[in-house]
Amino acid sequence: MKKAQAHTSFLDSVNSNFEKAAPHTGLPAGLLAQIKACNSVYQMRFPVKIGKDYQVIEAYRVQHSHHRLPTKGGIRYSQKVNQDEVMALATLMTYKCAIVDVPFGGAKGGVKISPREYTPAQLQKITRRYTAELIRKNFIGPGIDVPAPDYGTGSREMAWILDTYMSFKGGEIDAAGCVTGKPVNQHGIQGRTEATGRGVFYALKEFASNKDDMAKLGLTPGLAGKTMAVQGLGNVGYYASKISQDEGDVKIICVAEYEGAIYKEDGIDIDKLMKYRKKNKGSILGFPGSKTMKSRKDVLEVKCDILVPAALENQIRKDNASKVKAKIIAEAANGPVTAEAETILLKKGIVIIPDMYINAGGVTVSYFEWLKNLSHMRFGRMEKRFNQRTYHNIAETVERLTGKSIGEKEKSVLLRGADEIDLVRSGLEETMINSYNQIRDVYNKKKNIKDLRTAAFVCALNKISSDYLSLGIFP
Ligand code: NAD
Repeated sequence: MKKAQAHTSFLDSVNSNFEKAAPHTGLPAGLLAQIKACNSVYQMRFPVKIGKDYQVIEAYRVQHSHHRLPTKGGIRYSQKVNQDEVMALATLMTYKCAIVDVPFGGAKGGVKISPREYTPAQLQKITRRYTAELIRKNFIGPGIDVPAPDYGTGSREMAWILDTYMSFKGGEIDAAGCVTGKPVNQHGIQGRTEATGRGVFYALKEFASNKDDMAKLGLTPGLAGKTMAVQGLGNVGYYASKISQDEGDVKIICVAEYEGAIYKEDGIDIDKLMKYRKKNKGSILGFPGSKTMKSRKDVLEVKCDILVPAALENQIRKDNASKVKAKIIAEAANGPVTAEAETILLKKGIVIIPDMYINAGGVTVSYFEWLKNLSHMRFGRMEKRFNQRTYHNIAETVERLTGKSIGEKEKSVLLRGADEIDLVRSGLEETMINSYNQIRDVYNKKKNIKDLRTAAFVCALNKISSDYLSLGIFP
């Protein structure tokens, strides 16, 4: 018999947020129903020989919306993967892409395995077979559906996907754009690995720059000196905390990983912690100067300015929401706060910067990678030297007209042409700032919208609906 569900499912939570926002858009019910529905769900089971035996692997690919193509979204490897979760994640991807003006529909993949239990060779076998299944059903391709990394996967898995795709479709000129998040030397792009975490930092920086919004929380503007607690030090959590610390002068006071949580009032140096973890058989516990907390979940209840849940969904629920003491929750993970918990947190005056905006840095840079693959050229190749020469000529003219010379140090900064990494970071920062201000505008103008998530949904729904309306499908 199926176990009774103690909490609302992830998909129910996402859809209940949608329902909360929908009345603010004034869109017709039929159009809203079309936007909300998952367009295609592909559930598969395939055999893979592990050791002497065959294992039947359960996997999914969900394309939530075809209003723009290709569809796009990461692939998750986790023992907890199920259809509801993949549908919820695909749904979030549609809204996320709209919010950051990435012209894709939303999708997501999931393979129900715990990667820790397999060797790299076995993981490679599973990944290649999963890709072959996607190819067989036309669920992957640069103009069809483009996967990327998510929980439990990274650039290594993306390289295997690319190689498998190439071996089936090597003649396709744009084949490299069939997947993003690839290693840089395998048609990837500089700055993709850190992109989601860096996007979280840019978003926090933009939020914190607003004096009035910070004053409402009893905080001074700016990130410097603010305290942060982080759940999950994987790709997103590591870069979000490291970049906030290095470039924003944020103090990381609490960190939780699989093995437990640690607290250090005067700040945890993230890089030192990662080195310590490597030496300490993969555990953060016992990090010099830190206290070990009773449970890894305690990170969610620590008194801090910014809480960054960067592990999995459904972490802050109706049973622990009232214990959260952070002033700002930066949803680096997808769906860490349930809809029920959100009601409690908002009553407490906590600001939630929603997942579908704050973790969109990954898909933004994935979009840049896909564009690079289609153009078959790295960003900056055409203009870098031209710009350098132009800056040089300007500097020379200034020196000639003023009779003064610009110092060598200043010159080296002034005369630099942009490399790929500079352009990627600049495009990501612009996207995060611009999208936040679109959301904030809606939040400020619509007096009956009381939270940033609803405002973000309204932004997304307005953009997606205009695509459908311009097609003349919903007159
Ligand atoms: P990851 O696998 O690199 O890291 C997740 C980390 O969380 C792991 O180190 C794991 O040990 C840890 N963890 C798991 N359960 C935990 C718990 N209960 N307490 C503390 N730590 C725990 O995954 P990721 O790519 O960083 O993804 C994390 C979240 O961010 C997911 O919700 C994912 O959907 C979302 N996300 C990822 C990306 C991306 O580009 N990778 C983009 C957008 C959103």
